[in-house]
Amino acid sequence: MPMIHTLGAPRIGPRRELKTALEAYWAGEIDAAALEEAGRDIRRRNRADQRAAGLSFVTVGDFSFYDHVLDMSATLGVVPERFGAAEAEVSLDTRFRMARGRAPSGAPARACAMKKWFDTNYHYIRPELEPGTRIRLASTRLLDEAAEALAEGHPVKAVLPGPVTWAWLARESAGGPTRLGCLPAVAEVYAELIGRLAGLGVNWVQLDEPVLATDLSGEWRAAFAPVYARLAGQGARLLLAAYFGPLAENFDLVRALPVDGLHLDALRGGDELERVAADWPAPKVLSAGIVDGRNVWRCDLDAARARLAPLADALGARLWLAPSCALLHVPVDLAQEEELDPELASWLAFARQKLDELALLSAALEDAGAPGVAEALARSRAALAARRTSHRTRNPDVRAAAAAVTAEMARRASPHAERAVLQRARLNLPLLPTTTIGSFPQTAEIRAARAARRRGEIDEAAYLRRIGAATKETIAKQEEIGLDVLVHGEAERNDMVEYFGEQLQGFAFTRHGWVQSYGSRCVKPPILHGDVSRPRAMTVDWTVYAQSLTPRPVKGMLTGPVTLLNWSFVRDDQPRAETCAQIALALRAEVSDLETVGIRIIQIDEAAFREGLPLRAADRAEYLRWAAEAFRLTAGVVGDATQIHSHMCYSEFNDIIDAVAGMDADVVTIESSRSDMELLDAFRDYDYPNEIGPGIWDIHSPNVPSAQEMAGLLRKAAGRIAASRLWVNPDCGLKTRGWAEVEPALRNMVAAAQALRAEM
Ligand code: GLN
Ligand code: ZN
Repeated sequence: MPMIHTLGAPRIGPRRELKTALEAYWAGEIDAAALEEAGRDIRRRNRADQRAAGLSFVTVGDFSFYDHVLDMSATLGVVPERFGAAEAEVSLDTRFRMARGRAPSGAPARACAMKKWFDTNYHYIRPELEPGTRIRLASTRLLDEAAEALAEGHPVKAVLPGPVTWAWLARESAGGPTRLGCLPAVAEVYAELIGRLAGLGVNWVQLDEPVLATDLSGEWRAAFAPVYARLAGQGARLLLAAYFGPLAENFDLVRALPVDGLHLDALRGGDELERVAADWPAPKVLSAGIVDGRNVWRCDLDAARARLAPLADALGARLWLAPSCALLHVPVDLAQEEELDPELASWLAFARQKLDELALLSAALEDAGAPGVAEALARSRAALAARRTSHRTRNPDVRAAAAAVTAEMARRASPHAERAVLQRARLNLPLLPTTTIGSFPQTAEIRAARAARRRGEIDEAAYLRRIGAATKETIAKQEEIGLDVLVHGEAERNDMVEYFGEQLQGFAFTRHGWVQSYGSRCVKPPILHGDVSRPRAMTVDWTVYAQSLTPRPVKGMLTGPVTLLNWSFVRDDQPRAETCAQIALALRAEVSDLETVGIRIIQIDEAAFREGLPLRAADRAEYLRWAAEAFRLTAGVVGDATQIHSHMCYSEFNDIIDAVAGMDADVVTIESSRSDMELLDAFRDYDYPNEIGPGIWDIHSPNVPSAQEMAGLLRKAAGRIAASRLWVNPDCGLKTRGWAEVEPALRNMVAAAQALRAEM
């Protein structure tokens, strides 16, 4: 039977125990010993799950109190000077200060940057190399965790971020070591660590190098050989793990590395697994990442078995089975979802269930007819067959509508220049119109109303009255502040995805399906399981109500198709582009309804447009093509005089500017205040033809910017984009801010716009 292992387990605990413990610790409610105990509990439980499922190893090193890349930096002693004098053992509080700027002990300091882990929604803390960086073994935490696992008597595999990936993710600064230049010193520490792990009795060390699934320069490719030469021969066997895509041209360098095994992503890697297996030299191990670590669907065990059987014959015990990547990206345990519809639940597998799938697959490769195995395979088969034919996954009306989409539907009648004339006449806005991104503070009263409704303490009518009151107040405040284009404030929405997912057919929500986003922050992505349709209007009532309160234009506010897609667990039985087009059609009906009731401006947020960008440059054009088209299909239903806005919150447009232009929104508002308006260079250099609202208020900071500061940013913006095409707005929605900051900041923003108008 093939050996089975996991690349890593979720670390948040089945009921987000990590979050609870961390937040209690940061708030001073529990001490460090209690926090450590909570961590031990989670690790113990993960190991018990792995043993119960029959895994050949338990994995250590996958747990972290915040982020495993941060832990690696700490282990290497790569702690920026602003966090104080070097410690022999980099403490937990130092790690927390690096991650979030403060901790119960130690001086606050500017936190390190947080970035998305490849194309996932997990965020890592970016390592910082600086002039004083002295790389050395500065933490033995991993050794302690290995000892803790070994004490249970089970074989242990340790996992570390690969040295090249770690360095590749780092930030350099002038006068400090370069990312490539630091590698020899990094390799020394890894070698020492691996040697000490081996000394404890750890037989395998897994080194995660997802960077191998990206386009690497020649220099970076050449960096692998010397580093891995240093790591080999330290007493533990090395498993190099690559995932999130095929190695493609990077495979040749991997083949030559002195490692004892290679893990490949059999799902995102196409047929690379098969091609590698055909010529994989003994005695090296090949680990097949066959169970999806990025999604929640039950594995098609028959198909997996058919794929793997020839490999098992050829490789024998050198074939291992694993999830495609660490299970960090999926929820912990489906068994907790007692309220989930049983039919849908039967199609799913969360982290815990994925281990069982591996065990079953391994047993089936040995003898599919064995007692227990045959029955389990039959159950899995039946669930998949039901999913294929269920009315949930296939709605004939949706399919007919998708088949009837024409190119015209995804196109506005006239080019922006002509639309702009009509819109200007209809909206009658001043130069540099002021607006906001959509949400206003989710106050304690709003949250209390929602909680009371959930607990059944108030009825729906009472809830709606409270939300209505908040909306009315928000409109009045905006008028008083003097904004030109208003919003209803999104008081009724707890989350921009959940609000729509709950109203659309095809999305389902779990109760405990949390996934770590960063640190103690978790998200609960909806499960997009079936054909998407809109049973009834979703936003019209609130928008109409808000518009009835003011003569000024109120924007209709929708979450866009690409964002709904990218922030969900998406069905894997059809291309993402098809699913996205279904969402677009459902939203298109909403856009049309809003226009019909007289809403003059409709904003379609695409906060996560960039997030779906493939890792390889060669795959990007295709994604950008269908993503921009889905947006246009959503928006293209309106007449020329209706103005379409979109909002995107990230600070990098160079590589997607073509697609952003292709979306053809009349106005796009972006996050840009921290870039000092340099972000607009991408739009200027592109000759971006439509209107832009560069954010001039950094809403991620509690500071209230002055009118002068914002006017300064506007002047810089006007130096790049014609003022006739500029809007004035904050970086993003205001729901996490308080009115105490929002009111003065918006007044200053309006004053800044007035000052600029006077100058023109
Ligand atoms: N309209 C949303 C809001 O204002 C947009 C949020 C976002 O882009 N993340 O909250
Ligand atoms: Zn935003």
